[in-house]
Amino acid sequence: MATSRILVADDDQAVLESVTWLLQENGYDVVPAQGGAACLEQLDHRPPDLLLLDILMPDADGFQLLERIKAEDRWRDLPVLMLSAQPPEDASVRSLGLGAADFIRKPYRPKELLARVQAQLRMGALLRSAHLALLRTEEALIRAQQDADSRRKLVDILHEVTGDLSVPELFQILVRRAARALGVSHCSVVLARPGDTQAVVVAAFENPGIQHLTVELERYPEIKAALESGQPVLVEDLDTHPLYNGVRECWGSEGLEIPIRSVIALPFSIDRGEYGVFLVRRTSDQERFEAADLEFAQAVVTAAVAVIQRAQMVENTMADNARLEQLAQTDPLTQLLNRRALTERITAEMERALRYDSTMALLMVDLDHFKKVNDTYGHLVGDDVLRDVAQLLATTIRASDIVARYGGEEFLVLLPETDEVGAESFAERIRVAVEQHAFARDTIFGPLGLTASVGVAVFPAARIESVEDLFARADAALYRAKADGRNRVRL
Ligand code: GH3
Ligand code: MG
Ligand code: MG
Repeated sequence: MATSRILVADDDQAVLESVTWLLQENGYDVVPAQGGAACLEQLDHRPPDLLLLDILMPDADGFQLLERIKAEDRWRDLPVLMLSAQPPEDASVRSLGLGAADFIRKPYRPKELLARVQAQLRMGALLRSAHLALLRTEEALIRAQQDADSRRKLVDILHEVTGDLSVPELFQILVRRAARALGVSHCSVVLARPGDTQAVVVAAFENPGIQHLTVELERYPEIKAALESGQPVLVEDLDTHPLYNGVRECWGSEGLEIPIRSVIALPFSIDRGEYGVFLVRRTSDQERFEAADLEFAQAVVTAAVAVIQRAQMVENTMADNARLEQLAQTDPLTQLLNRRALTERITAEMERALRYDSTMALLMVDLDHFKKVNDTYGHLVGDDVLRDVAQLLATTIRASDIVARYGGEEFLVLLPETDEVGAESFAERIRVAVEQHAFARDTIFGPLGLTASVGVAVFPAARIESVEDLFARADAALYRAKADGRNRVRL
């Protein structure tokens, strides 16, 4: 595969150089552009596979640049990853609204940046191929049915199914639109693999309530035949077609009156290994299907499969993004929230406290003489103890509280709706919990005798205006707890 080309636009020479280096080290072809004008020039010259765009540049507003890029047809599918030191709530929401593919905060973490770049490059490639496939099918469709009326119907189908819908919704819409376009009373999507004895009807025009109905395939020889041959099956008349010899006998002996006269079964498969048959049927009072109908139905199905693949791809990418987001917020050792994620929550909580005239508290918990644990038992035991403390804190807090790892052997606990008195007694509870905790390592080495000191800060309070002020206040209290002899709580 050709090397992916990434255009990086940032006015900050240092960031530009470090991102360029990082990406080049990882095998990408990187084009650096210092500033907005240089970025546009490069885009014009040769569009890349991915654009990393800084939001704040002296010669251009990143948002405007993004808007401009997204407005141009030739750059519409170009994934744009926004880079910014702005508050994430504003910047990410705004840039995603304008069509950015994703958002990375500065200072960036190399692993996260690479993971997001990789995800977007993959998404970009899939999107381009899906667009191409759609374009080709649209052309094929238009050729397949020359008369204006059905052409209009076809375009309708495509338009209705290209929105951001889930796959089950797509199946429902597909049967409805296809039934109308083909003028049939029965139209359904049936999932099964070649060789299966049962199949699942996931959508049926004649019965919109159906979403997951299991049927025995021995009663549907046309579905079996289509799955096994991988070819469309056209049955002009059920009463005479040899495919139904066996089934007709069953109907007869069971006294069943089958209203269906004519059938088309079209097999399809979707990337993920889903196989199925698109089944259209007409009753005895309707016209029989002919070869031309088959061609038309086939065109509809080909288009539908392209659309479904695109929907699945979007679903996958959304799941990927959620996973990345989760990763970026989590401390790898303890699985607690990391400091950055907690900082975001604290900001929100401080705003809330002001708005609703309530109070909140922040506890800074630092293990006493932790260095000794490492020195005596080694780092691996130290890590185990940190995980153990994390677990202990997580089970001690209340449902609305949040615990995070601040770094090293320091933890933070955010207590919404808590005043000074409440925070102090809660801190004491934590201190006692650590002191009395039987660590998993105790049994091997004898009791660790581990204790913790806790610094408490509450908000609102005089001279606390930002998250940093609140951290500093808790840090100062912690320092007093240490100075006063450790294993204690200070405000
Ligand atoms: P104090 O009572 O003053 O807090 O003493 P301390 O030894 O706990 O504090 P200090 O800040 O001097 O040292 C913290 C130690 O925590 C140093 C480092 O070895 C250890 N530490 C920090 N992060 C980790 C980690 O992820 N794993 C392990 N095993 N140890 C860590
Ligand atoms: Mg310590
Ligand atoms: Mg420390």
